[in-house]
Amino acid sequence: MTNLALFGAAGRMGQALIHAVQHQPAARLVGAIDRVEAVISDTLRISPVWPDQLDVLIDFTRPEATLLALEECLRRNVGMVIGTTGFSPEQLGAVQAAAKQIPICLSGNFSIGVNVALQLVEQAARQLQGFDIEIVEAHHRHKVDAPSGTALMLGEAAALGAGRVLKDVAVYERHGHTGARDSQSIGFSTVRGGDVVGDHTVLFLGEGERVEITHKASNRSNFAQGAVRAALWLHGQPAGLYSMRDVLA
Ligand code: NAD
Repeated sequence: MTNLALFGAAGRMGQALIHAVQHQPAARLVGAIDRVEAVISDTLRISPVWPDQLDVLIDFTRPEATLLALEECLRRNVGMVIGTTGFSPEQLGAVQAAAKQIPICLSGNFSIGVNVALQLVEQAARQLQGFDIEIVEAHHRHKVDAPSGTALMLGEAAALGAGRVLKDVAVYERHGHTGARDSQSIGFSTVRGGDVVGDHTVLFLGEGERVEITHKASNRSNFAQGAVRAALWLHGQPAGLYSMRDVLA
């Protein structure tokens, strides 16, 4: 049995995670932590209090909050599943440093479907030489970072397949007189609005044809189930920085 606690339990993903943990027989929900307090049921209360017997913390919050949780997990020597997105390079450095002492599974997307799409995108980019690569993503109106962590992961997969380095070829903005498209670039377009849970399309645009690889999330349960699966896998692993690829291997 693995003792799990949720950080960001009152949030959209937190709610989906409470449900997912409660339906996973191998996991016990020992804490629902958030800065917001709420009573969920007779036995479950969301509060800022950390539980004593904890094996793995699942974090879906904001980067600043993740760093606070990281310190607490280091102090308690417990593993962490990090689903939060929008980290700066410095913040990411802190996560990498902590992974020298505790096991951490970090992924911008915990859905199984997206992780398969990543492999398809890498393969397509490898074979569709000479095609232009563009990534379009859509999310609900409350999302605070752009492009999404998933769009960036798809960009990394496409760059890897095409033999490029994403940071050298990524184009995040186009406005005004942009000039013609650089054939090596990988462009990102962002749509925000309504209640879209998460749509991603990678386009490979050639002469007279195009290939589109699309993933659409219709609710948050797929992310939550993947994160719980990652937490069960992480329990007992040595210190290190893992990804969903390791969990599914
Ligand atoms: P949300 O705003 O609904 O929830 C965030 C929660 O974090 C809130 O309840 C908030 O009170 C809590 N929080 C913030 N700071 C805190 C602190 N210092 N201490 C304790 N709690 C704190 O957001 P959401 O839609 O649930 O998304 C959360 C994060 O997860 C975002 O970064 C989002 O991009 C990411 N996300 C990742 C995946 C994935 O598969 N990796 C999927 C969906 C969302």
